[in-house]
Amino acid sequence: MLTVTLTELDRSGPVRVRGEIPAEDPIWSDWDEELTSPVSVDLSVSATPTGQVLARGNVQATIAQTCRRCLDPVEVRLDEELTLLWVPPDRRGGGDAAEDDGVRKLDPVGNELDLGPAIREELVLAAPAYVTCREDCRGLCPVCGINLNEETCDCDPVEPDPRWDALRDLTEN
Ligand SMILES: [Zn+2]
Ligand SMILES: [Zn+2]
Repeated sequence: MLTVTLTELDRSGPVRVRGEIPAEDPIWSDWDEELTSPVSVDLSVSATPTGQVLARGNVQATIAQTCRRCLDPVEVRLDEELTLLWVPPDRRGGGDAAEDDGVRKLDPVGNELDLGPAIREELVLAAPAYVTCREDCRGLCPVCGINLNEETCDCDPVEPDPRWDALRDLTEN
């Protein structure tokens, strides 16, 4: 857990929070992506006079994804600049609108603010929906299924290969 002590923030001004959240941490357990490195966090956290908590900095992680064209494994580096804001619940006003803007509610009973859930949300948003192993990945042949980055084939992906007709004829006779 990466936490800041709120009373300490009030006294001492901005606090630098640097650390790692391990890939095995239960916080990631219901995330679809597989982390291949610890999540590295470097944030400067400060309290505003109105009781808000502001965290600015950088979060890095590596996740294992699959090339959408050739299905090869791809390691994706996430490197996000973050600005996180927590507001005291009594200052939120207007229902839940504030939360929709990425503004988070400070837990009023806790003196410790856990940065993990907010970091998790930001990483989930930052993970690409799909990746390719490289810009010009040729993908898999839709006819025979070989990896066209590694091999070539004579299939025509648009027109059915006439040789299959010949083969079909053979098997039918
Ligand atoms: Zn690929
Ligand atoms: Zn082919």
